[in-house]
Amino acid sequence: MKKYLLLLVLISAVSCTKMTPEKQIARIFNYFDKNTSAVSTLETVCNNYPARMSGSQNNSDAIDYFTLVLGKYVKPDNLWTQDVTVPNWNPGETKVTCIPSKGEPFNLNSVPLGLSIGTDGQTITADVVEVSSREDFDKAAIKDKIVFFNEAMSDENGYGKAGWQRRQGAAMAAKRGAVGVIVRSLTKLTNDDPHTGVTNYEDSVKQIPAIAISTMGADKLSAELKNDKRMKLSISSTSKRLPDAIGRNLVAEFTGREHPEHIILLSAHIDCWFNSQGAQDNAASCVAAIETLRAFKKLGIKPKNTIRIVLYQDEETGLAGMKEYAKIAKEKDEQYLFNMEMDSGAGGPKTFMVSEPEGFYIKMKDIVNQYLSSYGVEEIQSLKGGRANWPLTEKVHAPFYLYRSNTEKYFDIHHSSSDNFDKVDQAAFKKGIAAITSFVYLMD
Ligand SMILES: [Zn+2]
Repeated sequence: MKKYLLLLVLISAVSCTKMTPEKQIARIFNYFDKNTSAVSTLETVCNNYPARMSGSQNNSDAIDYFTLVLGKYVKPDNLWTQDVTVPNWNPGETKVTCIPSKGEPFNLNSVPLGLSIGTDGQTITADVVEVSSREDFDKAAIKDKIVFFNEAMSDENGYGKAGWQRRQGAAMAAKRGAVGVIVRSLTKLTNDDPHTGVTNYEDSVKQIPAIAISTMGADKLSAELKNDKRMKLSISSTSKRLPDAIGRNLVAEFTGREHPEHIILLSAHIDCWFNSQGAQDNAASCVAAIETLRAFKKLGIKPKNTIRIVLYQDEETGLAGMKEYAKIAKEKDEQYLFNMEMDSGAGGPKTFMVSEPEGFYIKMKDIVNQYLSSYGVEEIQSLKGGRANWPLTEKVHAPFYLYRSNTEKYFDIHHSSSDNFDKVDQAAFKKGIAAITSFVYLMD
């Protein structure tokens, strides 16, 4: 009986090595269709370690949890952490009150923008000036006022365009003497759930409080201001920057059997904001990276090149974790086939994007067309601008790829209190990981 079993194992091992790519991809998709570990791992990290801000205890506990999962179930050839200095910030509590010239004051739901300062135990009351574009802002008289940035995000691709208000609004307004800023949430959805995200101060400019309100709150404030030019705003915030902390990047790999020195890297940030479980931004991608390794193990696929994952710190405020990873990669003179970054939620697979539309691009385009289009993956897209300053690309030669899932609903919940496990479409999430695993297998 034992001999017979051994023979069966041998036969299946031989048939594995001779398997056509089509069959192997079908096997991978079938594996993820039946898979339960991806969803249960995501559920555990979301429920037990939400609000994984860089420098927080939950972040550290999530790293410990993922280390345990990798060590116990995936058993990579190498597993290690890298210490990294990260910003540390207490979001505290915010309050935004509208004070009409006649009638009762009313409050708007609000959250602090990431790394913003508080009001030092005071309440700031001032006139408010609404701006809906850069041109508006340039023309507006804002000295001693609270600036209300109200440029709406037009569609799911409008995140970058409207994002200047949240990222630079406070610094731009402070330069011209404003006392605080209120920013419309970056989402196309109209509801009362405000979205946070980092705001970047400038070293030479005085820091002023920066608070996000919901799209519904912004519409309400804007309507009130049209009727009441003398309305004032009161804001208070207990947000506070704390001394930097030490966080950890988590790295795991299977060593390549032919070219161990050639690395295929999957990267995903582990930090998230204070106001949710950070399910889609970005626990889903961390789990996708782990599950890709697990699938290689379970399906007996031995990679030719080294397949490595890094779950890194501080994407949300400054990429400190990826910068540290890149610094070490440079010191070790590591060679990368490519780095694929995953940070677009848990929707089904949409496409892969590439920064260098030659060489590997040709291979990617061919394999996606040939093997993955029938699984719903669209034609490869070229990545323009924006990500050219990716830390690893700056330090070593590592063509930069992005995995893109279907982001139609992503910005509805992104950085808001709704980014929780219950909003994840589990079948789409697993199909996305199947696409990632297949892609890595085909590129290897
Ligand atoms: Zn993210």
